[in-house]
Amino acid sequence: MTSVFSLAVIGIGKIARDQHLPAIADSSGFRLVACASQHAEVQDVRNYRDIDSLLNAEPEVDAVSLCTPPQGRYALARRALEAGKHVMLEKPPSANLGEVNALQEIARANGLTLFATWHSRYASAVAPARAWLSGRQVQTVRTRWKEDVRRWHPGQQWIWEPGGLGVFDPGINALSIVTEILPDGVLLRGAQLVVPRNAHTPIAADLDCIDTNGAPVTAEFDWRHGPVEQWDIDVETNAGLLSIREGGKRLVISGEPVPLEPEREYRALYERFHALISEHSQDVDVRPLRLVADAFLLGRRVETEAFVP
Ligand code: NAP
Repeated sequence: MTSVFSLAVIGIGKIARDQHLPAIADSSGFRLVACASQHAEVQDVRNYRDIDSLLNAEPEVDAVSLCTPPQGRYALARRALEAGKHVMLEKPPSANLGEVNALQEIARANGLTLFATWHSRYASAVAPARAWLSGRQVQTVRTRWKEDVRRWHPGQQWIWEPGGLGVFDPGINALSIVTEILPDGVLLRGAQLVVPRNAHTPIAADLDCIDTNGAPVTAEFDWRHGPVEQWDIDVETNAGLLSIREGGKRLVISGEPVPLEPEREYRALYERFHALISEHSQDVDVRPLRLVADAFLLGRRVETEAFVP
């Protein structure tokens, strides 16, 4: 019989309401017992204003899912791990690489699961794309990830603050897919970051990378796009062109659409979290965050007009 873990969700904002709460409600492996958010509340569970109050009042909680913005996530995750809870992190796992490494050490030392999620890796096209590309020779990779920031991040100021990643907040989803499906590693050579005069993070970015065999891997990220999102990855190989469309909802290989399973990204994330806890293991892959960090290290900054929400 499947064990059922009691779960708390921290940070009740857009992604918690759009995806996490429905996925947990559907899950046979987790029972939502409590939430902590500074202002928001969730019906039919116990609500707290901060994680410390929750952890003090709910000692029987097995696991915590963090849906807060990346800045401050390290402190929240650390508290949960130190209280003996398994932790699932929304993407990006933290505001920098040092924090996620530190969390991994704490989880390991305490025999707890840390799951750094990349929800786009569970899009329907990703596993078949990875399987098809395995053993094939990649010649070029071209990624375009463009959307309207006002639609996807209404009223959010944290995206423009240091650690908020700007357009890399969606762009890192593309990088999570690219690093998952390519048979070889990806290295950043250069980047251009277009930063609004009134922001600390880019509204657009171009990445110039290569894979470890030298094949060019480029990415264009833009938040000034609309109204129809463009979430596309094209991989040219010695055996034809593989195209991921609509963020992983569609897959086309050599011009032929590939039949896919229905979309269930967040349901799959909670199944994976359950399996990791049951197996006493961790899943922490920092490659997408490392590419973003490298873009901030190597990128040329170009100033653009102030962003008006
Ligand atoms: P959001 O709408 O701003 O929601 C985050 C919520 O966290 C806020 O509403 C805030 O609510 C709460 N919060 C902030 N600090 C907190 C703290 N110290 N303790 C407890 N709660 C706190 O942001 P979001 O769009 O949901 O994004 C959150 C994360 O999910 C980001 O890392 C993002 O990359 C990821 N994500 C977002 C999307 C999307 O479509 N938006 C998709 C996939 C992943 P209170 O004011 O009530 O505290």
